Amino acid sequence: METTCPACGSKGLVIEDYLYDMPEVGKVILSTGKCRVCGYRYTDVRIAEAKEPRRIIFRVEEPEDLNSLVIRASTATIRIPEIGAEMKPGPAAQGFITTVEGVLHMFKDVLEFLCQEKKDKVCIAKLEWFKRAIDGGEKFTLIIEDPEGVSMVKGKKREPVIESL
Ligand SMILES: [Zn+2]
Repeated sequence: METTCPACGSKGLVIEDYLYDMPEVGKVILSTGKCRVCGYRYTDVRIAEAKEPRRIIFRVEEPEDLNSLVIRASTATIRIPEIGAEMKPGPAAQGFITTVEGVLHMFKDVLEFLCQEKKDKVCIAKLEWFKRAIDGGEKFTLIIEDPEGVSMVKGKKREPVIESL
């Protein structure tokens, strides 16, 4: 499939889809692409059996919850309300499979970059919060809102609460 590249605007983005059967999760579609014009790389992932538009609310109560699996499609927003963190979808958003800890690392990496630029106290406090959370020292809520219903969280010890959007 050839489509518009979000980086350079050409029609050179070639995307290939792969279907995987993952234990405990089910069928998952992984899309990877590369732009023939500018070299931009694209990845997305979604569950094969789309659900209704939904909000997935996952509570992290203990360190083991950080090992829960997260499938975030590019259409989904991730929020951690306790610290006011948000990862939004958009034309250049990528999907990924990771763990809750992996999501925390993504936020931490962005903050490390931002705090270097700004050096402000709020930024550094947030960064410290993410470091503690990665070490299992914070309880929090991970919320994924997906209007296409193709994201999921597979809890290690507890399952998420699902609300329709
Ligand atoms: Zn391109």
